[in-house]
Amino acid sequence: MQYAKNILETIGNTPLVKLNRITKEIEALVLAKVETFNPGNSLKDRMAVKMIEDAEADGRLKPGGTIIEGTSGNTGMGLALVAIVRGYKLICVISDKQSKEKMDVLRALGAEVVVCPTNVEPDDPRSYYSVSKRLATETPNSWYVNQYDNPSNALAHYEQTGPEIWEQTNGKITHFIVGVGTGGTISGVGKFLKEKNPNIKIWGIDTYGSVFKKYHETGIFDENEIYPYITEGIGEDILPKNVNFDIIDGFTKVTDKDAAVFTRKLALEEGIFCGNSAGAAIKGLLQLKEHFKPEDVVVVLFHDHGSRYVGKIFNDDWMRERGFLEENITKAADLIKN
Ligand code: PMP
Repeated sequence: MQYAKNILETIGNTPLVKLNRITKEIEALVLAKVETFNPGNSLKDRMAVKMIEDAEADGRLKPGGTIIEGTSGNTGMGLALVAIVRGYKLICVISDKQSKEKMDVLRALGAEVVVCPTNVEPDDPRSYYSVSKRLATETPNSWYVNQYDNPSNALAHYEQTGPEIWEQTNGKITHFIVGVGTGGTISGVGKFLKEKNPNIKIWGIDTYGSVFKKYHETGIFDENEIYPYITEGIGEDILPKNVNFDIIDGFTKVTDKDAAVFTRKLALEEGIFCGNSAGAAIKGLLQLKEHFKPEDVVVVLFHDHGSRYVGKIFNDDWMRERGFLEENITKAADLIKN
């Protein structure tokens, strides 16, 4: 008999899928690492397991303890799966910008969800950074995960995601392109790939309203770069310790509208039903097209599943209210023609 001993054993070994239509203007082979195949439907399952295992190993997390994290949903989902299998309680602190679907999913998996305002400074006592830290000090036998600065986050991708991509491409990968939030994915995968072949180029996808691109180019943390934006999962108003700027060759910024429109195009043209940051990643890849030669092998990573965005990106009214569906586009399928 072949079976996993529990749901956590099904994490990882996600497929690499060739993109055929959405990248047709690029001659290089473009492959997508589709992380929705993980049991929590996102890449974050990988780092959730690694962060918890490392915390158990050095005693930060004790039996029957409470796990606390400020999470945009996907990390919470991964943590929830591990918490269930290993017998922990979970509190997720989430900003009100995140989709209702993400909150409902966390609650369905037994997590307590605390919602905080998005548009306050990170050091404001109401911010989700501050609230998670406060809950961690107030709750007995608790452990604050802190995916932004927790080295096990990037390590999970150095140990698993990076080697998987290297093996799946037989070492032929030339470029890796991925959205950056905590920085765990780009830093872990990027470090592994650059150790294997320092010529591999690592590109981060950033949002308008986030500090990463300017900081990478100038070394300046420019507060003028910070303003509210809609894209979920990527871009930050802080510099997480998990972003290893040294292994990143460059960032490109994608607008909220482009990220949304390309998330829908990805579903319609490839049948790959992914979240908002996947649209940003594919649009960013197209913005970088002059960097690719025909013989290159370009890998882009899609973080999470489209089901979490059915009330937003995949909802025509939501899109139209924000000016993301133009007048000549009346339904989703029209996007293909435009
Ligand atoms: N996309 C989505 C949907 C995410 O939830 C995240 C995590 N914030 C990212 C991209 C960015 O990944 P990382 O945190 O590893 O940089």
